Order: sequence, then C-alpha cells, then structure tokens
Amino acid sequence: MRLTFHGAAEVVSGSCFLLEAGSTRLLVDCGLFQGSKALNERNYGSFPFDPRSVDAVILTHAHIDHSGLLPKLVRHGFSGPIYTTGPTKDLLHIMLADSAHIQVSEVERLNRKRARQRKPLLEPIYTPEDADRACTLVQTRDFGESFQVGPDLTATLWPAGHMLGAASVTLTYAPAGAQPQRIAFSGDIGVPDQPLIVDVARLPAVDTVVMESTYGDRPRDDNEDRYNQLAEIVKKTFARGGNVIIPAFAVGRVQDLLYGLHRLIHAGELDPANIIVDSPLAASATDIFCNHVESFDEEAQRFAAVVGDCPLYLRDLRITRSVEESKELNKIKSGAVIISSSGMCEAGRIKHHLRHNLWRPECSVVMVSYQAAGTLGRRLVDGAKVVRIHGESVRVEAEIHSIEGFSAHADQGELMDWVKAFPVPPKRIYLVHGERKAQDALARRIREELGLDVHIPALDQTVELAPARVRTVRAGRELPVEPWDNRLWEAFAELRDALDQLERRGAPAETMEAVIAALEEVRQKALAV
Ligand SMILES: [Zn+2]
Ligand SMILES: [Zn+2]
Repeated sequence: MRLTFHGAAEVVSGSCFLLEAGSTRLLVDCGLFQGSKALNERNYGSFPFDPRSVDAVILTHAHIDHSGLLPKLVRHGFSGPIYTTGPTKDLLHIMLADSAHIQVSEVERLNRKRARQRKPLLEPIYTPEDADRACTLVQTRDFGESFQVGPDLTATLWPAGHMLGAASVTLTYAPAGAQPQRIAFSGDIGVPDQPLIVDVARLPAVDTVVMESTYGDRPRDDNEDRYNQLAEIVKKTFARGGNVIIPAFAVGRVQDLLYGLHRLIHAGELDPANIIVDSPLAASATDIFCNHVESFDEEAQRFAAVVGDCPLYLRDLRITRSVEESKELNKIKSGAVIISSSGMCEAGRIKHHLRHNLWRPECSVVMVSYQAAGTLGRRLVDGAKVVRIHGESVRVEAEIHSIEGFSAHADQGELMDWVKAFPVPPKRIYLVHGERKAQDALARRIREELGLDVHIPALDQTVELAPARVRTVRAGRELPVEPWDNRLWEAFAELRDALDQLERRGAPAETMEAVIAALEEVRQKALAV
C-alpha cells in the first residue's frame, strides 16, 4: 500500500489522503484549504493527482475542511462513489451548496477588480452544478458495516464523536496469499461526553494510523463548565447593556450552542429573549440535525423527550435568513446573543456583527471554535487592538472570551487515550490536521509514553506501507510474548474479514453450513473452559 498526504499536512485544513492499494486508488476526504493566502491558493490550482484516476472517496464528515473540494474533484472528472454516513450525506448537501455560492460570489468580486485592472478573469473553483453532481455520487453506509471499496479492499466507518455523522475509517487490504494490511484514518476525533454526539468508538487493531492533532499540544478546561461560563458572560454583558456575539461554524457548533442555551433556559439560568441565529446555513443544518434525533446520544434523546421536541428548537429563537433581516440586527444595541458564521470570522455575516459591536466596550465576543493562524478570529484571540473589516479599521474595545470547552476536538490527553484504546499498538502513526507546534508536542508524548513510531508527513509526501508484523509494546517495551487478549482479538478480526469475503463470494449453502458448524464447535470449546 502507498499513502500520499495531499492535505492537512502540517496544517489543519485541506484533509485529503490518497491510498493506493493494489489497483485501487482511494481518497479519504477532499477538503478545502483555509487560513493563509498561500494555503487558499492551493484551492485554485489543479489537483496534484488526476481526479479521473480515483476510484472512490470515503468522506469522514461534512465539515468543509474535509469535503469542500469534492465538487472540484467532480468538475475535473471524478465519477466514482463517495461513501459516507446518512447524516453526513444530508449535511453535505447544504455545505457544498453554500460553499459553491461563496466560490462564485468571491470570483465575481475578484473579477470586477481584475476587469478594471485589465487582468485575465478567473473561473470559480466550482459552481452549484458541480456541488449538485458531487452529492449525486454519495452512497451511505452505516457505522460498523464492512463494505467493499475495491478488489481486496474493504472499509468500515466508526463513530468519531466529533459531530453528527462524523466517522473514523478503517481499511483492510487483503490480496490473496499476502498478509493483510490494515490502516485507520481518525477523521476529526471528538470529545467524550459531548452533548448530542455519540462517543468516539474504540477502533480495531491496525498497522498504520493517520490521526488528527489539532489540539495535540494542550489540555482543555473542564468540559462540564462551558455552558456555565457562557451563561456568566451573557449575564454580565447584558448587565453592562451590550450584546454577545458568537462566531460559530454553522454546522455542528451552532447546534451545540443551541442545545446548551436550551438547557440553560430550561434550568432557569437564562432568559430566552433575543437569541438569534443569523445564518441560513446554520438554520438548514439545524433542521437536518432535528431530522436525525435518533443519532443523538442518550442524554440528548432524554432531553428531547422532556421538552417534547427536538432539543435544538428553542422557543422564541429568532432565525434570520434574508439579508434584510440580518441588517435589521445591527439596530439592536443590547440584550442580544447573536450567533453567526463563519466560525473563524473570515467571511459571511459575522463580519457585519463584529463591525457593529467590536468597538463597544459593553459588548462581548465569545470564541467557541478553533481559530486557524492568519484568520481574523485568531487575531482577536491573540489580543489585536485594531482589526480591518471590509476595508475599515475597527478598534477592539469589546471583551474577547474564548471558551475552549466548546471544542469538538479531543485535547492532548484525549488524543493519547484514543491511541491507547487500540487493542494492539499500531506499528506506525502519521500525525495530520494540526499546526506543527501541536504535532511536535503530541509526537513527543506518544513516543515517550508509548514507544510508538510517529511521523509528521509533509504536504504531498508519499509513504510506502509494508505489511507489518504487529508488535506488542507495553510501556515502551516490546514484549516477547503477545498477551492472549491481543492474539485473540487479532484472530477474531481476521475471522470476521474471512467470513465477510465468504458471503460476498456467494459460497454454496453446504460450505456456509460447514463454516457455521465449525464456529459452533469453537463456541462450545470456549464455553467448556
Ligand atoms: Zn471537523
Ligand atoms: Zn477538520
């Protein structure tokens, strides 16, 4: 097997990994680059591989840094299946439509300028038609279901605990007569006990791991506290006569906030007046979440039963879809919580709300998402005194708060727990989806505590993955004898793969009967011990 890191290498955005296994060329994710100018430019250039040569895509989740270049892939000739979960399919639809709309209007704006300068005009990266075509290629798969993605190559999706529908992926490449090779892609790893979201799954044994490292260098504040921290900020800001502005990713984070606010209101901690979601995308995403209440975690399902509706539908919540309604919000001087996107303050309606509220000391801005280097959000978190918004200088007088507990990404300790949860320590780990500083810190800790082989791949780097003899390492030492739980687990995983293949090949009834009888014999043996 061969793996090339075409994105999210030493940066957080642009997740895109090309796995070549035998004759199959599979992409895991195809995300948009976000952040610095140089990164953004990568979105415009051609792919470093031929999209027509890609057989299939597995999409871990709908966030734009994982899905945002799928329409470009289709525009340049990809026509294979895109496998993902049901909720991701629904969310992808609105994410890509929104992204296409942004691409087209961004290029229109640039072209007006270029026409004046008599420069050649640009083409959008993709159009709404490309986004629609990408969505028609999606095929859904359930968590835990093993499916074929190419000859001798099977995949399984597992809950990643990051947001609705978000998955980790494991793949097994088992050509006849050769030792099978297994690889896991973490996707974005969530935080245990996150509201709404089913917890991250323990993955089966693999040889190679490609894992995210967004918060690889930091521990986080206590999760439990986050709603109370938010309630405190809201109360204090209202008492001063200001507004609370919350930049939030429209899909995932807004719903997390709505759930938290609902709980605070339900507990009598907050007054429901004037909570506003100013983002058509967030409004559509919230509806999709509410169509998948069955995918929420147990706690959220219980709360839904108590309030008798989807827990994201707050009574008196104001949702503004039109531009006119959004502009009306600029007249509100106090007592409003305005949730708007984009989450890193780079585009969209949030910029208007910041322009109208940042200069007012009585207001608060609450950061609840990851802020990439080079974004307006990051400059605010880093304490900028003046920022430029729409070509205008704006003084930063409002209080800037960050509540890290809202992160949907595992912190350093939780990433360590995720690695430790493999039944057999992986042979090698590649860290992706993180800034270099975070990656170095996590790599160091994994090497020191677990003695594993950790790499930080560069953009477009290719690595050859040789079949692995699975080592057993405990506390950094290789053990001469494998403990029985690992051996049993391995044997079981191989058995499961063999049975999957048996069924797919359409084995005759007597073979199936013989296999079932043999399995029953094994079961009796285990029971007899
Ligand atoms: Zn994500
Ligand atoms: Zn991500």
